[in-house]
Parts: sequence; structure tokens; C-alpha cells
Amino acid sequence: MRKPLIAGNWKMHFSVPEGLEYALQLRREVERYADTVDVVILPPALMLWEIANALRGCPIEVGAQNAAWEDQGPFTGEISPKMLAGWCHYLLIGHSERRQLFNETDEELNRKLQAALRHQLKVILAVGETLEEYEAGRTEEVITRQLSAAVYGVQLRLPTDLSIAYEPVWAIGTGKAATPGYANTTMGLIRLLLGKSFAGLASEMRILYGGSVTPANTRNLMEQPEIDGALVGGASLKSPDFTQIIQATAEVVQSQRV
Ligand code: PEP
Repeated sequence: MRKPLIAGNWKMHFSVPEGLEYALQLRREVERYADTVDVVILPPALMLWEIANALRGCPIEVGAQNAAWEDQGPFTGEISPKMLAGWCHYLLIGHSERRQLFNETDEELNRKLQAALRHQLKVILAVGETLEEYEAGRTEEVITRQLSAAVYGVQLRLPTDLSIAYEPVWAIGTGKAATPGYANTTMGLIRLLLGKSFAGLASEMRILYGGSVTPANTRNLMEQPEIDGALVGGASLKSPDFTQIIQATAEVVQSQRV
């Protein structure tokens, strides 16, 4: 059975002292679920090092929200996977905000993925269709293109090296989560695609759902067989909500064990 992963994407929120205080609060509240659920927080790059140090020895892991595809060089404003190596556990790439607002392409994401894996970062690759694509019935085509291009030529050592976050863009920050059935079906397609590139590993790789996950809808989502966790935006900024999402996920795991 795949251990669920709950990832909190803080986006561009919190000052450094606020972020640090919040991370320490989460540490107190969330540590007890670590046996059943993997938890990672993705703070802004500015506070990542400080928070990683504050959480050292604690099961909550940290990740970056973005990184470049080169190790170093004239890339003003960027951070590199080499800078994150050895102390930062995860890297999120391909979030729809990066694709849409910063024009990231599938080809760049492929380079980012290869660079991150070279530095032993565990990657969460986000994919998802826009509202227009959804309404035009193009979800399968879009997901297939995004995923196939991003993993082209990529080799994995372990199934945890790469997780996919399926995030329908129309569900992000809108309060309109995909139905569990719709998410599960699309994530089944994602697993089939993973099987083409990572035959021996696909069944063990984690696929997360993202898009308006709340304490109220977590249970129904996590009960779906293809949903192995969540990428959480808005609700990860409030400790009671994020903790309840983790707790509900742990309860689903426990109920499936008996
Ligand atoms: C996200 O930005 O990845 C996200 C899923 O946001 P929200 O949970 O707020 O919809």
C-alpha cells in the first residue's frame, strides 16, 4: 500500500518570522501522524533554510516551490537544485501558476526534473487541464502531453523520487474541487502513463490530488483507490485546516488497514 503524502504549498505567503512560527506550530500538531502520513511543507525560498533547520529531526519534510534546471550561473532571481541538495527534501515543479504566469514549458520542466533528480530531490510534478480544456473534453490529451514531455528520458531509482500532483486548474483556489470519481479516473490515466515510462515502479508511485482540498472533502477524496495524498494550497495556510486534512487522511489509512 502506498503511504499518502500531504504537501502544503504556501505559495507567496508569510514573512520569515511568521513562517517559522507556523512551521513550529505544525511540528507540534502534525508529528503524531507521521507513521501513517508523509507531510511536506513548501515555504517560499527565502525562509526555506531557516525552516528546514527548525524542523531537523522531525518527520515533517520541506520542499521548494520551484528551482532552475542549471546548477549555477547567470540566472538572476533563481535558485538551483544544487543549492537545495542535502538538506531540502522535495521540489515542486510544473504548478499551473508557474506554467501560466511565468510561461514555463513542458520542455523546461523536463530539464528541471532531470536536474532535481541529479541532486536527489524528491520531485512533485503538477499537471492539470484548464477550464477551457476541461469543457472541451481535452483532459486526457492535455495530461498525456504534459506528463509524457516532462518525464521524457527520465530514469528513476525509487518510486518516491517522483510523485505526480493532478491539479485541474479550474479547481485551484476556486472552492470547486473535482469530484472524487472524476479525480480518480484521471489519476488512473496518469498511472497508466507512468507505467509506460517507469514500468516496474508505477504501481508504487504516489499520485496526489490538488484543487480546493479542505478538511470537509479530504475523506471522500482519500478513499479513492488512485488518490495517494493531496497538494494543498489555501487550506495549508491555516494550521487547524491543514492538521485536519492530515488527520482525516490518517483515519482513512487506518480504516483501510482493519
Ligand atoms: C494549489 O495551488 O496547488 C492548490 C491546490 O491550491 P488550493 O488548495 O487553494 O486550491
